[in-house]
Parts: sequence; C-alpha cells; structure tokens
Amino acid sequence: MKKVIVIGSGFSSLSTSCYLANAGYDVTVFEKNETVGGRARQLHKEGFTFDIGPSWYWMPDIFEKFFNDFGKKTSDYYQLDKLDPAYKIFFSDDVITIGDCMDKICEEFERIETGSSQHLRKFIEKAQENYDIAINKVVLRPGLSPLELVTKETVLRVDQFFKTISHEVRKRFKNPKLISTLEFPVLFLGAKPSKTPSFYSFMNFADFGLGTWHPKGGMYEIIKAMKSLAEELGVVFHTNSPVEEILVENGIVSGIKTGGKTFTSEYVISGADYHHSETLLPFQYRQYSETYWEKKTYAPSSLLFYVGFNKKLKNIEHHNLFFDTDFERHAEEIYDNPQWPSKPLFYVNFPSVTDASMAPTDCEAGFFLVPIAPGLEDTPELRSQYFDIVIDRFDKRTGQSTKDAILFTESFCVNDFVEQYNSYKGNAYGMANTLRQTAFLRPNLKSSKVRNLFFTGQLTVPGPGVPPSLISGKLVSDLILQKT
Ligand SMILES: Cc1cc2nc3c(=O)[nH]c(=O)nc-3n(C[C@H](O)[C@H](O)[C@H](O)COP(=O)(O)OP(=O)(O)OC[C@H]3O[C@@H](n4cnc5c(N)ncnc54)[C@H](O)[C@@H]3O)c2cc1C
Repeated sequence: MKKVIVIGSGFSSLSTSCYLANAGYDVTVFEKNETVGGRARQLHKEGFTFDIGPSWYWMPDIFEKFFNDFGKKTSDYYQLDKLDPAYKIFFSDDVITIGDCMDKICEEFERIETGSSQHLRKFIEKAQENYDIAINKVVLRPGLSPLELVTKETVLRVDQFFKTISHEVRKRFKNPKLISTLEFPVLFLGAKPSKTPSFYSFMNFADFGLGTWHPKGGMYEIIKAMKSLAEELGVVFHTNSPVEEILVENGIVSGIKTGGKTFTSEYVISGADYHHSETLLPFQYRQYSETYWEKKTYAPSSLLFYVGFNKKLKNIEHHNLFFDTDFERHAEEIYDNPQWPSKPLFYVNFPSVTDASMAPTDCEAGFFLVPIAPGLEDTPELRSQYFDIVIDRFDKRTGQSTKDAILFTESFCVNDFVEQYNSYKGNAYGMANTLRQTAFLRPNLKSSKVRNLFFTGQLTVPGPGVPPSLISGKLVSDLILQKT
C-alpha cells in the first residue's frame, strides 16, 4: 500500500484523507493542535458550546455529495435543520428578514422596493444557472490550466467574468438595503463585491435558493462525521504533532519530520496554510517568493468573541448581520487602506436560538465576528475597546441591555490565527477569490518543484469556505489517483 502523509486536519485534509484511504492508500494525518478540525474546532465552557470558526452551513448538496461518494448520507452522522428565518439584517432604520423560501424573500423585497421581487426572481434564475455551471463544471477542475475555464457554458457568459457583482446588483436594484443584502453572500469569497466577478452570483442562489442550514450540535458535527468516516476507512490521526519539515530527496518528497522523528511516505499533502507549508521545505524547493505572498489579496481576518449570556435575549435570530454603518467604508478599511474599522459592521450568531444543546437552559451562546484586515496590530486593549463598541451597538439595535447578563467572554483574533494555525498575516478565510486569483491563477494544488508533494485547502483551488475545502480535498486526491 502506498503511504500518504497529510499535514493538518481541517476540512480539506479530512476530505482528501477519506478519498485516498477509500482508494486503498495508507493515510496518516499529523495535526499540530490537540483536536482535529482546524479553523472549525469548538470551544466548550460552563455548559456552552461555540463553533470557533464557520457557522453558516450553505450548499447542502456539496456535503451530501461528499458523504454519498462513500455510500453514506449526512443523516447517517448528523441532523440537519433548515433555518427559518435564514437570517436577519439590522440596518440603521429597518430590519430585513430573509425567510426560508423565495416567496417569503420576495415579499420582504417588495416591502422595501415596489417591483423589486420580479427583478429578484430573474436575478436568482440567472444565479441558479451559474451555480449549476460553477459546481458541476468549473469548480471540479484542478486549476492546472486556463483552458479548464473554457466550456461552452462559460464562453457564453464570458462578460460575467469581467463585470462585477456590484455592477449587476446595482443595475437591478436601487434601495441601498437591498443592494447590501444581495452583496452579502459574495463576502464569503473574501473580496469586495466591486472586485468580485458577477459570475459569482451563484452565491446568491446558494443563499436564497438553497437556504441556510444548521447541523444539530454545531458545525463541528461535520468534522466529527468526517473523522469518523476517515477512521472507518483506515486513516490514522496524530494530534499534538506539528510538522517541522517536509523532507525531499533528489526532488522527490520522502516524508516529514515531527517531534524530531522522521516519518516516510510516497506522497505528502499539506492542508496547512500554503505559505507556512512552503516554509517547511528547503529554500530551493519553495515555489512562491515572499513578494508573491505579499502582493496577494487575502480574505479578511476576524476579531471574534464567544460570549455566554445568563438569559434568553430578545429580537434576535440564529444568524444576525449588523449592517447599520457604512458598508463601503468598512470594506475600504479591510482591503484598500488596512486599519481597525472606524464603524465596524459585524455578525452575531446565536445557535442556542434554534438548538437547545448549544447553551444551558434559559441561556444564550453568542458568537460575535468583526471582519478586519489581516496583519493588523492585535492587543488586549484593542479587543476590549471593540467589544464595548459591538455590545453597545448590539444592545441599541436589538432594544435591550445585555451587559449584566454576560457570564464570560473569550476572544480570538490575528495573533491567535497565527499562533494556532500558522496563518499568513492571521488571515481567517485564506486567499480572496478575485478575477486575478481564480482557478489556475491561485497557488497550485501540485508542487512544480517537488515530485509527489501536493497542497490543499482554502489558499489553493477552488477557494475559501467549507464547501470549497471539501472540493479542494477531492481535487488533490484525483490528481494523485490519476498519476497512479
Ligand atoms: C471565523 C471564521 C468563520 C468562518 N465562517 C465560515 C462559514 O460560516 N461558512 C463557511 O463555509 N466557511 C467559513 N469559514 C471558512 C472555513 O472555515 C475555512 O475555509 C475552512 O475551514 C478551511 O479549511 P482548511 O482545510 O483549508 O484549513 P484549516 O481549517 O485552517 O486547517 C489547517 C490545519 O493545519 C494545521 N496545521 C498548521 N500548521 C501545521 C503544521 N506545521 N503541522 C501540522 N498541522 C498544521 C492547523 O492547525 C489546522 O488544523 C470561516 C472561517 C473562520 C476562521
């Protein structure tokens, strides 16, 4: 049996491990942290459960397809519930509620802008066509050549790669609140809507067409499911095992070193952040220079707070977006002129609203996220200053006082992303999917300098997010399987 070593245990690493073990490879995973899951680990405190990273379960078809590839279903491992409402957006003078089907969403759009529901249905029809092309044709290609992007369907839509999602939305809708609502889904791709090609409107279909789901017990249930599947298939896990070196002999990968010990293998796949993975190689085997990494556009980092409240809160849903300040200004402070945001937009997740297992009875588990530029200075004083800003705005917009109900607050920011995940500049979601950083223009799945060395995860193909990470793991395993 050929041996494969996988570095890291995030979604992409777990995905590739399952595919390769299923194909008969002897797969061993080395993870630096105490538990598997990477950015999707969980925090347990005083009876509260918090997903540390991802909280939006979008594109349920991709998760289902992953488990189907092994003759399984998601329901074999976890219970999935469709959220209704999917989420709520707080603006300074109104609240928009996104329901669980197009009829409810159209009704809400009509309330804000007369006639907008017709435009919305057309926009979502087009977004659905893009989703089918993106998911079934484009995203499943390994990004080895520009020709991969050339299909009958993409040629017919070539203009959508050169127009932006902002342009497309503004052509159809005038109300700034509806514009922000429709620009929100592409933020998952890590770039400004004014820099994201309109072809990516498929994210709007993922949002309004496919809906927002919640695995009972939190997103970590997916990690537990994938680990359990991997173990069934024979994958061996070593946690608390930071890889210190990727070993190369005569241009061919030969294994890794961890804790001073050498482990040999025919293949190595790194699911750790790409920049860090390359630093594990002797200099002459690195593909990308420091200048290359410096020039790239990264998806944001985040300031995160995990808060236990000793009472049930009012006027909130499972997912809540606070878009009550200037969207453009905050985006500029992330991408154009990196600095701590003057008036931050933020997101709050209360899984305990729909899932009683996430908090003790009559309590609420709150996860607050402020997107910020990667690489910013991160100090306890700044974290505390922003916590006060966010809680004050939260209380004001939801019409309640929560400060006295706080049992504890834990925070996570740039320094933790670097320390816990070896993340480049403390990025949270990897490299943004702009036109110049799409498909073959992203860091490669396959090393051009070392034979049998591969990379997977949110910094390579296809990009940031949980569903793309599952796909990235499959793409890299396909490359190895094709080779043999
Ligand atoms: C706060 C936050 C919110 C998010 N929200 C969402 C969301 O709602 N929905 C969504 O779809 N996506 C979301 N994402 C993005 C999603 O979580 C990521 O795209 C995905 O989890 C990345 O998986 P990965 O396999 O690429 O890498 P990671 O999860 O980063 O895994 C890499 C692993 O490598 C390990 N590692 C690093 N160096 C070494 C070493 N030297 N040796 C051994 N191991 C090493 C790390 O410890 C880590 O476990 C969010 C991310 C964050 C951070």
